[in-house]
Amino acid sequence: MTGAPPFLVNVLRPVKHVLLDFDGPVCSVFAGLPAPEVADRLRAALLAAGGQGLAGSKSETDLLALLRLVADTRPDLVTVADDVLAELETEAVRVGRPNPGGESVLRACASSGRSVSVVSNNAGVAIEEYLSARGLTDYVVGVFGRTPGEPASMKPNPRLLLEAMEATASRPGDCIFIGDAVRDVEAGDAAGVATIGYANKPGKDAKLAAAGAVVVVDSMQLIADVLGAGLGAL
Ligand SMILES: [Mg+2]
Repeated sequence: MTGAPPFLVNVLRPVKHVLLDFDGPVCSVFAGLPAPEVADRLRAALLAAGGQGLAGSKSETDLLALLRLVADTRPDLVTVADDVLAELETEAVRVGRPNPGGESVLRACASSGRSVSVVSNNAGVAIEEYLSARGLTDYVVGVFGRTPGEPASMKPNPRLLLEAMEATASRPGDCIFIGDAVRDVEAGDAAGVATIGYANKPGKDAKLAAAGAVVVVDSMQLIADVLGAGLGAL
């Protein structure tokens, strides 16, 4: 971890609106329904829809990369691919692994008077399903999943972050973004928002710091604790 808690306090203190990535900080989406299996099922659905010869798709197990690949090589299939993936993501979150610290951050934001928008490359319907199933819907003011049928909307594109800020009339200086991927930091940078990197796997801390994360933590609970302690109160 590169950021000492006092610095984390300073980063969080002025924040009014928290932009929160989903897969990683809140829930390990594919912990129960593994991504390679989802990729196989997505490929089967694409094949059934006439998607023979999707070059390079066989070895791709990064589902969002697979969606981009479909958009690049068979744009006629991107809508069906996105629809099928959204269904599979919804199935996955039902057996995904919640990150207890993520839920704590949602609750700490509420108790400290901060609003939260979820900003994710996952499908909005899947995120809403997860939040609803766990009684967390009221903790977020908006869910900004990838724009259906438009994989280009995904981070590192800043579009979803900009939409989340626009919907809440927030300025970048009022916000912090919390994400666990380099593309999150890049999207935050492009949107003018500082990003807290959440390093949930070994080696991620250096990558997130190198990408420009303002601080890197290895625990979402640490963010919740700082917010909950009132040190970052408005
Ligand atoms: Mg993530």
